[in-house]
Amino acid sequence: MISQNTIQQILGRLDIIDVIGGFVKLKRRGSNYLGLCPFHNEKTPSFTVSPAKELYKCFGCGRSGNAISFIMEHEKYSYVDTLKWLAARYGIEIEETFQSDEQRQTQLAADSLFIINQFARDFFVKQLFETEEGRDMGLSYFKERGFREEIINRFQLGYSPEQRDAFTKEAVAKQYSAELLVKTGLVVNRNDQLMDNYRGRVIFPVHNHSGKVVGFGARILKGNDKAPKYINTPENEIYIKSKILYGSYFARQAIDKADECLLVEGYTDVVSLHQAGIENAVASGGTSLTPDQLRLIKKYTNNLTIVYDGDTAGVKAALRGLDLALEEGLNVKLVLIPDNEDPDSYVNKVGAGKFKEFVQKSKKTSSCFSLRWL
Ligand code: ZN
Repeated sequence: MISQNTIQQILGRLDIIDVIGGFVKLKRRGSNYLGLCPFHNEKTPSFTVSPAKELYKCFGCGRSGNAISFIMEHEKYSYVDTLKWLAARYGIEIEETFQSDEQRQTQLAADSLFIINQFARDFFVKQLFETEEGRDMGLSYFKERGFREEIINRFQLGYSPEQRDAFTKEAVAKQYSAELLVKTGLVVNRNDQLMDNYRGRVIFPVHNHSGKVVGFGARILKGNDKAPKYINTPENEIYIKSKILYGSYFARQAIDKADECLLVEGYTDVVSLHQAGIENAVASGGTSLTPDQLRLIKKYTNNLTIVYDGDTAGVKAALRGLDLALEEGLNVKLVLIPDNEDPDSYVNKVGAGKFKEFVQKSKKTSSCFSLRWL
């Protein structure tokens, strides 16, 4: 719990023009400020902020509130996360009221895991762009898939070299503890020897809703029947598979604006759709949908469109997701991609315009769909 003292300090420092101005371009108009509303699409500004009242109001969509509710609404943060965000912005140290030893240990471990993941992400990005192996193996793989550099940078994609301990060596030199390194899944312990877990793979960092790296998906490059196509981070203090949607950090504002979330299956589907400008897409990351993931979607919109492969496995996965989504009270539509394509290959083949058109045209309401398929 954040102490009352800290909350008072934050409220004391809070400047609504400064906070909202970080997200919306505001122009002075008399005693108020005016800008384009971030919550609905508009061409003439009707979003008004009053520094005197410390309130904002949009005369287009009717949303209103104070600086704290603005951050909660805009960033989809909880109240506590909003206070933490503001404290960081104003350099206020957070004083916590009572924490048990166990809570403190968990918090410490989580903080360390975030730091190691950030270090690893930077390492993999550097390998991808600045080493010959990275460019020959990793970058050329991404380029073959049609990923342009801008999208590779945005999603912070990387490459883990084939050498058995390239990452481990650097991490140990940084004095990260072996126990925590193993916990992140980046490093494995084989016969008392630490080695890299994602050797010779391209890396997809997985971000939480505030953009911090909670884990990684690592895709194999060389054909090998024994090795799994993807290795994912094991469950730990910060990587809780059932609560993560890949791409949610990059998609949240587009989902909000479109009032629709597209759910696809894989990392590459998300990256390709975002590259094509379809930015309201997230993936469940290879697991079947969970109630927690659906609740995460519900924070942004009630309209979920599941876009899966039209093959039998895709249909089955879609149907499992459908029942759960209905239980959670979402409006669910289903779109199956034809001709053995997945969203990734299909958007690359037909382009963004045709893809959107296809999704709009093929949306089936859940009840029609169930009747047809069940
Ligand atoms: Zn508005």
